[in-house]
Amino acid sequence: MSHTPIMQIPGNIDPVPTPRDITPRSDGRIDLLGLPRQRIAELLSEAGLDAKASKLRAKQLFHWLYHRGVTEFEAMTDIAKTMRPWLSERFVIGRPEVVLSQHSSDGTRKWLLKTADDQEYEMVFIPDADRGTLCVSSQVGCTLNCRFCHTGTMRLVRNLTPGEIVGQVMLARDALGEWPRAGQADLAALGDDLVDDDGGYSADGRLLTNIVMMGMGEPLYNFDNVRDALKLVMDGDGLALSKRRITLSTSGVVPMMARAGEEIGVNLAVSLHAVSKEVRDEIVPINRKYGLEELLQACADYPGASNARRITFEYVMLKDKNDSDADARELVRLIKQYKLPAKVNLIPFNPWPGAIYECSTPERVRRFSEIVFEAGISAPVRTPRGRDIDAACGQLKTTAQKLSRAELDRLAEEKQAALG
Ligand code: SAH
Ligand code: SF4
Repeated sequence: MSHTPIMQIPGNIDPVPTPRDITPRSDGRIDLLGLPRQRIAELLSEAGLDAKASKLRAKQLFHWLYHRGVTEFEAMTDIAKTMRPWLSERFVIGRPEVVLSQHSSDGTRKWLLKTADDQEYEMVFIPDADRGTLCVSSQVGCTLNCRFCHTGTMRLVRNLTPGEIVGQVMLARDALGEWPRAGQADLAALGDDLVDDDGGYSADGRLLTNIVMMGMGEPLYNFDNVRDALKLVMDGDGLALSKRRITLSTSGVVPMMARAGEEIGVNLAVSLHAVSKEVRDEIVPINRKYGLEELLQACADYPGASNARRITFEYVMLKDKNDSDADARELVRLIKQYKLPAKVNLIPFNPWPGAIYECSTPERVRRFSEIVFEAGISAPVRTPRGRDIDAACGQLKTTAQKLSRAELDRLAEEKQAALG
């Protein structure tokens, strides 16, 4: 009997389709958003420039695109006037399309975005006294199904491309009016009066200072695109945000954690949420695939974690599920057993229609926090933000589908079966 070899899909690492880096457009032009220098240079070569010119122009385009936020070739003052129409005949610099933008009474802003193929996803901006954090999505929906998370109830899923991911940060800078003003290179072109003292911006005056990969999706199931997008965000000639101001949150995709540390190097947050196999299996089903011990060991091994750069354990407070004194003590014990440089973020559960859990009482949350804190581990309680516009943790879900309870349960079963 002959066997037709079937290609194995390795684990659940990258289980959803990703479009190619260049999405075909009806006008035949190519969107440069999300592409790295090298790829831009290749495209310029293919369009007819010689190698040297391609490299130089790619460097200039990169700077205008990601550092200056320019979307028109006409504004690129160091590119010859005759060259600009040549570029705009062949290329565009896009942004994700904004379907809806909402403001919360607490200053939080949420944008519903749409990809070129009509997939909807969301991003949230959370202003605080000392920082402004953009919560960025990595996928449309999520293949996982944490039982307390609204995003987990979405069926429709595809990975976002690097352009769709970095595009969120760029759109936020557009909306906040935070692109650096003219730099030294443009002095001559624009006149001195338009130029800022230092010819750029400093971190001090900006609203958008931090990024968290905590929007829709599991970033480590879309590793390559998240890495490539964050590289553009961290590039000194790109968006130039320090890796210390970026946090990637994972539900615990253990096999990808070391690579995340090595190849991206941002701060790590882990959605722990439970300290026993029984409870974590139930509320964070990926635990059935990668258990607590494996996860905590991967945290202990995470490259770059130190007392100065602690791993954040996110812990959603669910009434009578994971919020007892004994749970708090077990959390402390585990952190100490694995010698983790850790802090704990206690997140009051944010409700959504159809959710089967309730939030712990404020007294319970306080007591839990005290127990962890008394053991020498920082355990602040996160203030829910943007609840009135469904922008709080775990509330993100585009309204495209409204499922009944029975449908939600069926979907949960399907997703859990897929975890194997
Ligand atoms: N998929 C990644 C990142 C996105 S979720 C992850 O799970 O880590 C961002 C955080 O919000 C996670 O810790 C998630 O578990 C938490 N969260 C999800 N639903 C929530 C809810 N309803 N209330 C409070 N926190 C929630
Ligand atoms: Fe996905 Fe994170 Fe929500 Fe779990 S908590 S379903 S991993 S987005």
